[in-house]
Amino acid sequence: MNTKRSQELFAKACRHIPGGVNSPVRACKSVGCDPVFIERAAGSKVYDADGNEYVDFVCSWGPMILGHNHPAVVAAIRETLESGTSFGAPTSKEIELAELVTSALPAVEKVRFVSSGTEATMSAVRLARGFTGRSKVIKFDGCYHGHADSFLIKAGSGVVTLGIPGSPGVPEDIVKNTISIPYNDPATLEKTLRDDKLDIACVIVEPVAGNMGVVAPAPGFLATLRQLTAELGIVLIFDEVITGFRLSLGGAQEYYGVQPDLTCLGKVIGGGLPVGAYGGKKEIMDHIAPDGPVYQAGTLSGNPLAMAAGAATLRELAQPGFYEQLETKAAGFAGELAALADKYLPGQTTLNRVGSMMTTFFTPGPVTDHASATRSDTDRYAAHYRNMRSQGIWLAPAQFEAAFISAAQSEADLALALEKTEWSFKQLAAADK
Ligand SMILES: *Cc1c(COP(=O)(O)O)cnc(C)c1O
Repeated sequence: MNTKRSQELFAKACRHIPGGVNSPVRACKSVGCDPVFIERAAGSKVYDADGNEYVDFVCSWGPMILGHNHPAVVAAIRETLESGTSFGAPTSKEIELAELVTSALPAVEKVRFVSSGTEATMSAVRLARGFTGRSKVIKFDGCYHGHADSFLIKAGSGVVTLGIPGSPGVPEDIVKNTISIPYNDPATLEKTLRDDKLDIACVIVEPVAGNMGVVAPAPGFLATLRQLTAELGIVLIFDEVITGFRLSLGGAQEYYGVQPDLTCLGKVIGGGLPVGAYGGKKEIMDHIAPDGPVYQAGTLSGNPLAMAAGAATLRELAQPGFYEQLETKAAGFAGELAALADKYLPGQTTLNRVGSMMTTFFTPGPVTDHASATRSDTDRYAAHYRNMRSQGIWLAPAQFEAAFISAAQSEADLALALEKTEWSFKQLAAADK
């Protein structure tokens, strides 16, 4: 595969942009190659600067659940564009998206729009602290909640990929207010919450972890979390930036039947434009300025183009049968993927899947938390990634991420991905001998 133009662009980008990228994992360092530059996308495919075509399983890291350039989303953006792109004043588009969000998520009585998932989580934590008058935040090892200071402690995604425990630049005073504990460990959870209960403002969790690779909550884990936080007056925040509108229209909270106090949204909610949101119970949300004293603002918050793209996307997702079809497709694909792994790499991989998000770990497993996820052979993932990219299959350039099924992927796309996976697994098995 010729990637000459991408190589030239990367060299140029590196002169002006740190690492040549505007988000670290894109640089492909952990998979031992240089990034290719994407020029355009359509439906289930992305196309690079040299004209190579790839079946897309990254989906812009989650947002593109409908595939790229969905006609309804493009039409909504185009129509909005004609009327101006930003006013810094309220517009009816914000109400439209807010109504769609609050009707899909009963636990979200009021919602505030921001421009990224990071802004959503960081604002939700500030609100939880302002509401409770407490300081400490409990999070889980390997969960990623964006790049705000409080969360860069045993975080997932790029932080785990780069193998760093935290980040320089995060002051000790902030680190000491974040306690990170193992995912899916109810005993440690209960002890931590009871020991420190009067100081804990909130627990923030990915209800399905997607940033240490996909890790499902163990049966009863979310219910225990709900019961304990309610008992101790601790705000429970579900970070549904990946799972919101991904697992069902009502997110993981609908999927598992557990309602948090606050919910963070991002990715799918913007339909490919920059939108984040946080929302929840009225009694908590009413503490946000201007109704209350907890400050949070944004020049481009509720941007009309972004609201239009989000609303058009959510309307498509609300069509009857959307999530059932996605589930059937994802289950079929995952089943065949697991069968290939068992055939060529017996006992050496674990496939975790919840709905349309999945990860193949190169470890016998089971993978239930950060410790077991990081047992995965990341060199093997890197080789698999390079194999697949060379064959036109676009996977995340890191082990600790999800592969996403989109509504746009056809039977032919998935069959091609399986054929290339078989080829790659054979190579990996042969390299072992
Ligand atoms: C991507 C992600 C974020 C951060 O969202 P950005 O839009 O990248 O700031 C937060 N939480 C989770 C669970 C995510 O997957």
